[in-house]
Amino acid sequence: MAVRPIAMIGDPVLRTRAVEVTEEELGDPATQQLIDDMIDTMRHANGAGIAANQVSVPKRIAVVEVGDNPRYPYKPRIPLTVLINPVLEPVGDETVVVNEGCLSVPLRGDVTRHVHIRLRYLGRDGASHENLLHGLTAATMQHECDHLDGRLFVDRLTDPRTLSTWEEFELHQRDAFVARITEFVDRVGS
Ligand code: ZN
Repeated sequence: MAVRPIAMIGDPVLRTRAVEVTEEELGDPATQQLIDDMIDTMRHANGAGIAANQVSVPKRIAVVEVGDNPRYPYKPRIPLTVLINPVLEPVGDETVVVNEGCLSVPLRGDVTRHVHIRLRYLGRDGASHENLLHGLTAATMQHECDHLDGRLFVDRLTDPRTLSTWEEFELHQRDAFVARITEFVDRVGS
């Protein structure tokens, strides 16, 4: 297990547009090791996803996984997914306000996300994938793809006054958010 240090907001690497991974790079053992380390780092921190620039490598790689996550108990499960060079496209106009957190930002806040997206990416074996994704799963993918463009959720806040620490979120906002988002997840199915 190799857990790497996570870059925190203010580190310029988080504001860098990550570069595409070439086929040759993807076959390089160092890249495969990076992917394994990103998975370990995400799991160690109980994150729902992590992008390579969050471990200070500005390449277009992200990993996502939601199991029984104590950090995000309302999120539907997502099997471990490795995204290489993901390209994301909104489908339709529907949006939802999601209260998000990030391993690189010690706060949470409300962000508007597309409810339906098309996601194209390569797996770690180089195979190409195309998925239609919905709801909080789609929101998680939008958060990770934003990282690869040097963007953080705080750039997309619906209102800066929604920012809170995790502790204050638990005390004052959690119940209302979980009630609203659970209803949303029941409707959208993910
Ligand atoms: Zn993040």
